[in-house]
Amino acid sequence: MIVARFEEIVGEGGVLTAPEDLAGYRADSTYRVEDGIVAVVRPIDTEQVAEVVRTCRAHRIAIVPRGGSTGFAGGALPVPGQNVVVLSTERMRKIRALDTVADVLVADAGCTLHELREAAAAAGRLLGLDHGGAGSSAIGGNFATNAGGNNVLRYGMAREQVLGVEAVLADGRVISPPRRLRKCNAGYDLAQLLCGSEGTLAIVTAVALRLRPAPLARATAMLGLVSPARALDLLVLAREYLGEAISAFELMSRSAIAFHNAHAGVAREPLDEPTPWAVLLECESTSRFLDLDAGFDALLEKAIDREIVVGGTVAASEEQRRGLWAVREGIAVAMGQARFFMVKTDTAVPVGCVPEFVTRVEAAATERVPGCRAMAFGHVGDGNIHVNVLPPNGMADDEFRGHGAALSRAVDDIALSLGGTVSAEHGIGRGKRAALERMLSAPELDLMRAIKRAFDPEGLFNPGKLVG
Ligand SMILES: Cc1cc2nc3c(=O)[nH]c(=O)nc-3n(C[C@H](O)[C@H](O)[C@H](O)COP(=O)(O)OP(=O)(O)OC[C@H]3O[C@@H](n4cnc5c(N)ncnc54)[C@H](O)[C@@H]3O)c2cc1C
Repeated sequence: MIVARFEEIVGEGGVLTAPEDLAGYRADSTYRVEDGIVAVVRPIDTEQVAEVVRTCRAHRIAIVPRGGSTGFAGGALPVPGQNVVVLSTERMRKIRALDTVADVLVADAGCTLHELREAAAAAGRLLGLDHGGAGSSAIGGNFATNAGGNNVLRYGMAREQVLGVEAVLADGRVISPPRRLRKCNAGYDLAQLLCGSEGTLAIVTAVALRLRPAPLARATAMLGLVSPARALDLLVLAREYLGEAISAFELMSRSAIAFHNAHAGVAREPLDEPTPWAVLLECESTSRFLDLDAGFDALLEKAIDREIVVGGTVAASEEQRRGLWAVREGIAVAMGQARFFMVKTDTAVPVGCVPEFVTRVEAAATERVPGCRAMAFGHVGDGNIHVNVLPPNGMADDEFRGHGAALSRAVDDIALSLGGTVSAEHGIGRGKRAALERMLSAPELDLMRAIKRAFDPEGLFNPGKLVG
């Protein structure tokens, strides 16, 4: 009966129930579920979303909002044992406004990050959010997870792009339209509260995003280093030379690069002489009065002179630049596609603690599982370092899986002991709830639960995720 009502609301083609149609909705980048999805409902506009929410509320069936399902926390999937409706924004794809005077882009929640970046670029602007999942992830999902990615150092996380939001509340009312203002001190900032709420408070139907000037020049290099400590030396030096022009500072261990190469079947090394660590450094200028190449050359010369950098390659063309980024982004892809179990982490620590964090995680992992391989990579310019732990060669998948919880906990505990976080950018979803409880104080958890109750007293949205 509920399916027939959904069909009335969104049309027959907007509702999926056949097992073969649901197959594509059973996984995100990390998790997989075999059942629990009653129907996937795909509205095309906000009014349809509101009507679907009212219907689910009346039938007391929970809703799991879904964007591109590229998340790492299982947030867009039911928790085992549940029966839910998945509300997919995939048919909500309109760019509602692109204003190059106010520098604001307003888009439906289902637009992919990539298509919005392209639209901004076509208008001579930049949307300052980018990451390896841009091609498939939806802007609603990016907002709901407060996505980070490659350019946080310069442009901030998703929340720093957000001006306003349109969202459907649990009682079916709509907060609309998205505010487009840079300045608005009219009480609590609900857009910021919803940003990062992972589908637990409301369904996001549109967002207003700030645009930036498009870069006129870029300089990109992959630089070889002997240790993470040297990477921090390079970061400090780069800031001294190029200030806010630094747009990406990505650290990769040699083992992570080798893993990517093996996975992708790439024979050519990014650096002629492989080094234990590498940094992908990118700078951008939006002013024609800044000689970015001269600044970049001077920085590299000084870094070599001080023996901070021991090798490297500078991208001489856009193609070469993309080749360097393919290595960095390919690491996450390779780890995501690996056919064996590994411990994936999303920790961040104060930037100066990154070397200690890496050393302690390597030691803790080896102590628990001798021979395991800790591979570090991440957006180290903002302290976000993923250290994934892979099994020792030859260890059976099930045996290593048995160590998973203890290894994850050890990594999280080291991050927390350094004043860090268990979730830098992927969110809590269903997988990090216990870690969140260890990280937050009782008053913080109480407030979060009170906020959840205020927005969603009946537990309609994404139960079993975050604090819900
Ligand atoms: C190769 C690769 C690289 C990646 N790199 C990064 C990275 O560098 N940084 C980073 O932060 N992430 C990264 N990601 C993860 C992912 O792309 C982000 O988490 C993204 O923000 C998720 O968007 P999505 O549309 O796929 O959301 P989904 O996975 O569909 O959903 C994620 C969460 O948001 C909720 N949600 C989705 N849409 C809505 C909505 N309209 N209203 C309310 N709630 C909603 C869901 O319920 C769920 O809880 C990467 C992913 C891949 C595959």
